[in-house]
Amino acid sequence: MADYYELLGVARSASAEEIKKAYRKVALEHHPDRNDGSKESEERFKQVTRAYEVLRDPDQRSVYDRYGEAGLARGGGGAGQAYDFNDALEVFMRDFGGFGGLGDMFGARARRSQGPARGQSLRVRLALTLADVIHGAKRTVKVQVLDPCDRCASTGAEPGTKANTCSTCNGTGEERLVQRSVFGQMVSVQPCRTCRGQGHVIDTPCRRCHGEGRARGESEVEVEVPAGVSSENFITMRGRGNAGPRGGPRGDLVVMLDVAEDPRFVRDGPQLLLELPITIGQAVLGDEVEVPTVESTTKVRIPAGTQSGELLRIREQGLPDLGGGRRGELLVRVTVWVPERLSAEQERLYRSIRAVEDTAPERIVDRKGFWSRVKEAFGGG
Ligand SMILES: [Zn+2]
Ligand SMILES: [Zn+2]
Repeated sequence: MADYYELLGVARSASAEEIKKAYRKVALEHHPDRNDGSKESEERFKQVTRAYEVLRDPDQRSVYDRYGEAGLARGGGGAGQAYDFNDALEVFMRDFGGFGGLGDMFGARARRSQGPARGQSLRVRLALTLADVIHGAKRTVKVQVLDPCDRCASTGAEPGTKANTCSTCNGTGEERLVQRSVFGQMVSVQPCRTCRGQGHVIDTPCRRCHGEGRARGESEVEVEVPAGVSSENFITMRGRGNAGPRGGPRGDLVVMLDVAEDPRFVRDGPQLLLELPITIGQAVLGDEVEVPTVESTTKVRIPAGTQSGELLRIREQGLPDLGGGRRGELLVRVTVWVPERLSAEQERLYRSIRAVEDTAPERIVDRKGFWSRVKEAFGGG
């Protein structure tokens, strides 16, 4: 695996804050849901998450700085320890999931709990429109899940039979291995391979679930999407994912939000930007025109003497902030359209205007240029 600092694109001296920021950026870039589920992105997502998990922890970071990846292997079951996609996703959501503290976060849940393994977390995508962003939305999503098996009451044992205590681990579910490493001899505890950490073995597996204690099912989940979301948000529904094997708790359901782009607008947080071509006559004499809003239309007044590139602001026709509140502005960027072909009469009139019009100033002094207006409108930078 590549150098952790390189993976995140930060200097070796990067602060914790810089590491977190860098991780968020690269993780979003490589998020498989943003890359058509590409295996390569998934691999990359896992790698950057692993790098982040190490570098965010001062102890692990100092071990890594001194000994590299090999140094980190001593805590667990050797180098190359399993780090699956769900682990990576959980890390990402623990630190960036939910809605900036308002929503459902993973918190400080132990990564590997005792007892039956937790079921996998599932991901679904939810398509939304800008209208949904304005009002919030309630949707029912159908999810293919693994449900607890009702035939065997999720024990995995055929009704009438029982699970027997595992003879390898005597029911503890653990196996102790002694390993030698550069740090000397160490004992590592691993889940028992005979019973897969269950502590018991099933001699007569349930006929419905083949000893898994869970079976395919379908569930309908009500998802409430707050107003103001974007495609960068997701909603974590705790305990709505797959049931764990043989009575293990359910994983989570992660609803990835997918807000469709509206080709008429450019979105920037709560603001929407709309391009409005107008004629020379409208720019010179002023006019009132109808412009589209997300759900309907509204009128906007073009003052006489409007320059190309000016921004007209329409209040509360943008989008609400996450968590509600007042809606942002719809910014109308005016572009003066110059005709490329003229009728004979138009040409005659333009010629007589030109004979009497003032010459253009060297630069337009009392009005801001388009770019500085856009920058100002979009909060600088
Ligand atoms: Zn069963
Ligand atoms: Zn065992």
